[in-house]
Amino acid sequence: MTPLQRLGPEALGLGMTSQRARDRMVERLQETGIRDLRVLAAMRQIPRHLFIDEALASRAYEDTALPIGCAQTISQPWVVARMTEALLEREPRRVLEIGTGSGYQAAVLSLLVDEVYTVERIDELLRQARRRFRKLGLPTIRSRHDDGNAGWAEHAPFDAVIVTAAAAALDPRLQAQVAPGGCLVAPVGGSGGQQLLRLVREESGFRQDVLGAVSFVPLLGGVL
Ligand code: SAH
Repeated sequence: MTPLQRLGPEALGLGMTSQRARDRMVERLQETGIRDLRVLAAMRQIPRHLFIDEALASRAYEDTALPIGCAQTISQPWVVARMTEALLEREPRRVLEIGTGSGYQAAVLSLLVDEVYTVERIDELLRQARRRFRKLGLPTIRSRHDDGNAGWAEHAPFDAVIVTAAAAALDPRLQAQVAPGGCLVAPVGGSGGQQLLRLVREESGFRQDVLGAVSFVPLLGGVL
């Protein structure tokens, strides 16, 4: 059974939150260059409207970032799709996410890889995300309240690390937790503009692919 089938009518949604709305979002993702059918199938299944406030639910399947409280946002679906696609090319089994936020990216990943580890610095957001994981029945997601700049050393190395907030430069501790052959996908840059990067760990060091311009909330230090 899929998470949606388990949950019944609420997750399936109605009108602007219906399966039809999710299907249309996925069609648009495909039209705008998302090719990986596994990613499209996962995003067709995860009810994005359950990861945002009810007052915004009617906008859940627009291709836009939306506020989730605490001055943070759920990423734009296209960006979630592109990052997931970039990471899946390396066929990871265990993935670390920095910046749980609403939990949506972690939920999508959990349908595609064996284990998802996710770290969030704002306790209130993490609690909400955990409630969503429980409600949807996504037991392969493990989460932690901490400053994600340090990664999650106890469970390292990871086949892939995905950072969903932007830093001026990547913290070397995150790179150190990428397994050989694995990758790190992250927005990098300051107010002058951010680029989505994929660093692939090769024997001689990291190879860098530039995936395009993006706009993320900043990666901050400390915990709240
Ligand atoms: N992946 C999220 C996107 C959330 S926006 C989603 O699918 O909804 C980025 C998130 O990163 C915010 O929740 C923010 O609080 C968190 N964040 C910022 N700096 C962080 C840090 N140093 N460690 C962990 N989380 C951080």
